[in-house]
Amino acid sequence: MTDTILVFNAGSSSIKFALFPASDPGAGALLGGKISGIGRAPDFIVRDPTGRVLEEDGLEAIDPGAGHGELTIRLLEWLRDNDGGTTLVAAGHRVVHGGRRFSGPVVIDPDVMDQLEELTSLAPLHQPHNLAAVKAVSQWAPGLHQVACFDTGFHRTQPRLAQLFALPRKLSDEGILRYGFHGLSYEYIAGQLPDHLGPRADGRVVIAHLGNGASMCAMKERHSVATTMGFTALDGLVMGRRCGALDPGVVLHLQQSLDMSHDEIQQLLYRESGLLGVSGISNNMQVLQESSEPHAGEAIDLFCYRAACELGALVAALEGLDALVFTAGIGENSAKVRRQICKRLGWLGVVLDDTANNENRTTISGPHSKVQVLVIPTNEELVIGQSTRALMPGQPG
Ligand code: ADP
Repeated sequence: MTDTILVFNAGSSSIKFALFPASDPGAGALLGGKISGIGRAPDFIVRDPTGRVLEEDGLEAIDPGAGHGELTIRLLEWLRDNDGGTTLVAAGHRVVHGGRRFSGPVVIDPDVMDQLEELTSLAPLHQPHNLAAVKAVSQWAPGLHQVACFDTGFHRTQPRLAQLFALPRKLSDEGILRYGFHGLSYEYIAGQLPDHLGPRADGRVVIAHLGNGASMCAMKERHSVATTMGFTALDGLVMGRRCGALDPGVVLHLQQSLDMSHDEIQQLLYRESGLLGVSGISNNMQVLQESSEPHAGEAIDLFCYRAACELGALVAALEGLDALVFTAGIGENSAKVRRQICKRLGWLGVVLDDTANNENRTTISGPHSKVQVLVIPTNEELVIGQSTRALMPGQPG
């Protein structure tokens, strides 16, 4: 009987999951899938490692408004009945915010759980969903080994200047700092760099994680030195529904002159802006690329323009650039977006190989490019699986 680790990656309206062999998560997931549409009409899909669908829509009987906790239990029930007799020995969770306390993965006990609950105020739209999955697993399998892996952890190596806002010192001391997110994705890519770049992997590298949520990370010696997201996952790039960097005066104006409440502003900035807000059509890049509407084209242009500008700021933090890596849904699949961003980077010596780019090859820069440009698929779930195994009793420290 195979011992397994179940990995949860809970977002605001979805739970991605993957089941790994506990003996060696690096061997690849035994199965993986996603519950999407949480809070509206949950949809459930499970695939085997070849991508074959094992289950679709197995949740008909469930209340459409069911939350993350209830759906986690349903997933555990489905696995019990369909996992081919494996034994679950641990669960690993993506937890968005580790604050200043947690720079690496941690075994979840009641004391850690209290500390993670306290950090909810720093990520009110994400942290509760992550913790709901932890609580549901505790309810289902009391005492099961559970590990939290943080999106913020990878960035704790940043120099102090990269973390500071120019706010009164008292606020910085209280933890109002630039934390950065998508750390699990960056950790995975950092681990892949030597295979693709050799010694250059330890040079000046920017990773562009372009998905529904999007950010970039500047790395030296494969450690984070700067990133585009700040105190919250709102900052930086244009995203599917989030605005990215915004003059804080706009928020004051919305509040004072347009009389918008906190909840209305939060909804506007997190759910109604970004690609969706600018296009008025969709938050989905693929849909926008297929549209002939001018507003769809303008949303893509703004996404790429702002990505190139934010990249320029990271290059200043790095004092140069040796390699650029695209990852996540848009970064891995959209040749158009990569081309549009790279077109603005000629001043850095970036030369794209159009054929390689159109074919989504791993190296998409030309032979004369001063900067090596790569496409590397990310795998946050694997990082969580490996960290969870590393913290299991009996593993070498
Ligand atoms: P998240 O994990 O943050 O929800 P993903 O990394 O899955 O997001 O990325 C989703 C985005 O990737 C969507 O905007 C989607 O349209 C885009 N995407 C996926 N495939 C393609 C493609 N072939 N061309 C353009 N965009 C794509």
